[in-house]
Amino acid sequence: MKKHNFSAGPCILPQEVFNEASQAILDFNNSGLSLIEISHRSKDFVDVMEEARSLVLELMGLEGKGYKVLFLQGGASTQFLMAAYNLLESKAGYINTGAWSNKAIKEASIFGEVIEVASSKDAGYNHIPKGYKIPKGLDYLHITSNNTIYGTQVKEFPTSNSPLVCDMSSDIFSRQLDFSKFSLIYAGAQKNLGPAGTTLIIVKEDILGKVSRQIPSMLDYQVHISKSSMFNTPPVFAVYTSMLTLRWIKKLGGISAMEERNEKKAKLLYSEIDLNPLFKGFAANEDRSFMNATFSLVDEDLNETFDAMWKEAGINGLNGHRSVGGYRASIYNALSIESVAVLVDIMGDLERKA
Ligand SMILES: *Cc1c(COP(=O)(O)O)cnc(C)c1O
Repeated sequence: MKKHNFSAGPCILPQEVFNEASQAILDFNNSGLSLIEISHRSKDFVDVMEEARSLVLELMGLEGKGYKVLFLQGGASTQFLMAAYNLLESKAGYINTGAWSNKAIKEASIFGEVIEVASSKDAGYNHIPKGYKIPKGLDYLHITSNNTIYGTQVKEFPTSNSPLVCDMSSDIFSRQLDFSKFSLIYAGAQKNLGPAGTTLIIVKEDILGKVSRQIPSMLDYQVHISKSSMFNTPPVFAVYTSMLTLRWIKKLGGISAMEERNEKKAKLLYSEIDLNPLFKGFAANEDRSFMNATFSLVDEDLNETFDAMWKEAGINGLNGHRSVGGYRASIYNALSIESVAVLVDIMGDLERKA
């Protein structure tokens, strides 16, 4: 039986995407060949790459606005350094909202001065900093839109004259934003888009080519752009499966339809966390993530009972990140509201039992 998968990543994808992707492994487009044995230069695969790239711009409303889309390897973790390699000439600002921001800061520090513009470290990253002043003259300002580990999410993005760079790994395509506010967006596919193995990059071309250092080809956005994201062999399975997910998002009504679904799921879950006296949430209410809900039992003696109950109900992946503890329910795009209802029922059952 298929589990209710609340895993933080790699994560659940739509069942029809799993079905189509596995079919393509056996026989791609009735070609008598597998998707993963054909040339990435064949028309069939070039079509996949081009459809994926154009669906990204279409869904985000970025067509004709000077953006380029890349599907590269190396995960979001490589983007921590690649963004700085390509953009950081003297100084950059970073909003520190947790472990992923810290890793981005560490890599960027190799290339220039990093100014920590704001941080919620002292509060254990349970909220998104607000009301901070952004220094002038930054090469860019970096922010993490959704903090997968703590369950916090930026609801209002800072406005600055410097290009805005955003790690959207764990909430990309989950909510409608004015994406033209961002100069560079990157996201590891495995949180909300596809399997592990590819990283989506959306970059405004006019911010590139401004640093004086030499950039190795594989780490140079301009090289990958000039080769239409085919400078070297792309991760064909990850790109194809991501493309199928993009088709699915479009079919269901685009990003705003995803947002509506996700809002319903998040409301259902957070209202149980708030109303059930056995549970308490981790993140500050106004910054709660609609992708990763973090919570714990007030009385930890109940953990064992609760764990047995949700496992019995076919739920997977509910343990919190080791640095936060408690529970984390990741309710990415493909997770159905029915799965959330199963979890909420279990939480209610525990209250009646305790
Ligand atoms: C998971 C995650 C990453 C790391 O992604 P990799 O693809 O494993 O390198 C970076 N940022 C955020 C916000 C994440 O959730």
